Amino acid sequence: MSTGEWKAATKAIRIGHHRTAEGEHSPPIFTTSSYVYESAAQAAARFSGEEPGNIYSRFTNPTVRIFEERLAALEGGERCVATATGMSAILATCMGLLRAGDHLLSSRSIFGSTVILFDKYLGRFGIDTSYVPLSDLEAWKAAIRPETRMLFLETPSNPLTELADIEALAHIAHDHGCLLVVDNCFCTPILQRPLELGADIVVHSATKYIDGQGRCMGGAVVGDEQRVGEEVFGVLRTAGPSLSPFNAWAFLHGLETLALRMKAHSHNADLLAQWLENHPKVSRVHYPGLASHPQAALAARQMDLPGGMLAFEVEGGREAAWRVIDAMRMISITANLGDVKTTVTHPATTTHGRLSPEQRAEAGISDGLIRISVGLEAVEDIQADIERGLEQLR
Ligand SMILES: *Cc1c(COP(=O)(O)O)cnc(C)c1O
Repeated sequence: MSTGEWKAATKAIRIGHHRTAEGEHSPPIFTTSSYVYESAAQAAARFSGEEPGNIYSRFTNPTVRIFEERLAALEGGERCVATATGMSAILATCMGLLRAGDHLLSSRSIFGSTVILFDKYLGRFGIDTSYVPLSDLEAWKAAIRPETRMLFLETPSNPLTELADIEALAHIAHDHGCLLVVDNCFCTPILQRPLELGADIVVHSATKYIDGQGRCMGGAVVGDEQRVGEEVFGVLRTAGPSLSPFNAWAFLHGLETLALRMKAHSHNADLLAQWLENHPKVSRVHYPGLASHPQAALAARQMDLPGGMLAFEVEGGREAAWRVIDAMRMISITANLGDVKTTVTHPATTTHGRLSPEQRAEAGISDGLIRISVGLEAVEDIQADIERGLEQLR
């Protein structure tokens, strides 16, 4: 039996747990900061790297390792390094693979804190970042400079669900000697496997769908042995934003139901998107599963299912959008996403509130836009709650 041939649902449940002498069926949490050696000679061999094995939990921890092996298998990467948060996964990737003088080319439609990390913090250390529209392949090509080392993107984008053609961008990146890094947080490997499409590195915020129940913070970087196993791991073991064993344990259990959950999130979102598209009080719906999505063909090719994130627009701007949101009784007003609980946000005044009105207009974030992370409650109840909101509009 080759575990590499297992389907994703099986890998997500079975990979990585090497049972201890106790014969436990469920993976244990190893809450230990350091590890003990048989002799002084063995300690020396471990420290010099001659002998593999645990030294200190900032470097390696058995519970964290199960999570890393499992996620690497799901993404189809040689190595995974787990991190304390999604942001520290992105930071460790950049610190491990870039140096002063390098240029980073990024999609404009990325997570807000990632923009601040690139502009304010990497900028201080001599790494320059510029931005291009996510889906415009010509713009990506034109913006590459001799010193460009990395292309970075999220697909589908938040909140407009615009897509990047990962395979085409991998070719562009490699033709110019650059790495392609994909933040796969919105899809998880159940819906989209960027490494199979040619990307070099996948980063995750495990805080979202991988946890799936809004409990723990964490992240991960997946890729090849050299870049992730050596360079990114080197940053982690030295600088220390490592994943705690407790959080790794929660994520392991999250992974066990990930395939089931992603299908259910996608199913609910698909039904709601179709209902919203025909709703008289909704002017536009953004969802990769709709035939009306401008990149529906790419979505069908690149993603196994269209996912759980959707956005819709109402007439009447901020005032109308807030009225809709405030009338919802069940859906939680919170910025977290990928939770079993359905959540709602008003991007123009929260996640995209720091942009100027002109920047928001350019990014397509209208004041009447509402984003929903569709959860796993009965779809009838989610629909009824959104309807309660929409009834507020004349
Ligand atoms: C939340 C998020 C992050 C950051 O992850 P944290 O775990 O909050 O640090 C990065 N990228 C995307 C797409 C996210 O949604």
